[in-house]
Amino acid sequence: MLLPAEMKSFKSCAEYLVSQSAAPDEWKGFLDGEQYRHYVDIDFFGPPPFGSIRKSLNDVIEKYGEGEAVSNGVVPWTIAEHCEMLTLFLKSSETFNYAMLCAAVMGHYVADAHQPLHTTENYDGQYTGNQGIHFRYESRTADVFFDGAVPRADNVRYVADPLNFAFDFIIDSHDKISVILAADTGHGNNLRALWADTADMTRRQVEKAAEDLASLWYSAWKNAGSPKMEIKLKTPVGVYSEKDYQKMLALRDKLKISGK
Ligand SMILES: [Zn+2]
Repeated sequence: MLLPAEMKSFKSCAEYLVSQSAAPDEWKGFLDGEQYRHYVDIDFFGPPPFGSIRKSLNDVIEKYGEGEAVSNGVVPWTIAEHCEMLTLFLKSSETFNYAMLCAAVMGHYVADAHQPLHTTENYDGQYTGNQGIHFRYESRTADVFFDGAVPRADNVRYVADPLNFAFDFIIDSHDKISVILAADTGHGNNLRALWADTADMTRRQVEKAAEDLASLWYSAWKNAGSPKMEIKLKTPVGVYSEKDYQKMLALRDKLKISGK
């Protein structure tokens, strides 16, 4: 809804994009490293403004070692990588179907990054006496009571540096953790009261997720030379297997190497 009219193929694939956006959660069980792509514990790397982590993944690995860099989550780099991959796939009509898979999957990671509890070591309230808050907030409150959001097309813009952009919205998301924890501490198991105190923030996060995703899709499409793509993918039954994702990654590597 937020995209410019020229990106009409994204609109005609809307149902497909929605259906595939859930796939990465299914992949966690069997795709190597998938579990780390959905979050980043930015507070592990020190206090705001998080200068030591707003860098390339290689730099972070060099400083903290691969084990710590990866186990604390890699969602910002995953988003930037998918943005680059999307540009690559949008450059040729032969890979438009992979562009749509890539766009859908990117939507998942961008959405996860707007859930404040996906940006902290205290992701389940275990350090603040809020044990179990992840499920209480996300599944028992937001999923049940959420009543819609109104994202704004005016907030969609060209993003020159997707990694920096991802860090900006992740840090903004991180700032909202206190809203959830304070509501939980104040209301215990009263889920309606928990929702009353978190609804406005949650609605805005959902709107921001849509606006930020649209900005990244738009930027990737612009970087690919604003292709006039004609594609309408049918929604498959079930979700894409990890094999399709592996094929997509292999194709990206092939295209990168051949410099297309
Ligand atoms: Zn996820």
